[in-house]
Amino acid sequence: MEPKKVTIKKLEGVIDHLKKASEEAIGTYLYKGLRIQISQYQASGSERFARLYHKRRKLGLCVICGVKVTAKNRRTGKLYRLCDVHRKKIDKQP
Ligand SMILES: [Zn+2]
Repeated sequence: MEPKKVTIKKLEGVIDHLKKASEEAIGTYLYKGLRIQISQYQASGSERFARLYHKRRKLGLCVICGVKVTAKNRRTGKLYRLCDVHRKKIDKQP
C-alpha cells in the first residue's frame, strides 16, 4: 500500500477511529517522513474482500473493478454499487 501524506489533524482523526477499533483507521500514512501503517493482523481473504467491498461502496466505486460509478438508481437516488459494465453483467442476470 502506498502511504498517503497526512497532516497531524488527519492523524488525529485516524486515532479517533483507532479508539473505536474502527476499520476506518486502516491505511498507510506518511507524516513528516515517517510511515505509519495500520492494518488488520492475520485478516482472512474474505475479511479483506469485505473491507474492500465496503470501502469501494463508500467511495462510490464499482465493488468489482473499482471504477467510479456515476449512474444512480432512480428509485433510491443512490449510486449503483456496480459500474455500467458490471451492472449489465450481474444485475441483469435472470
Ligand atoms: Zn465494474
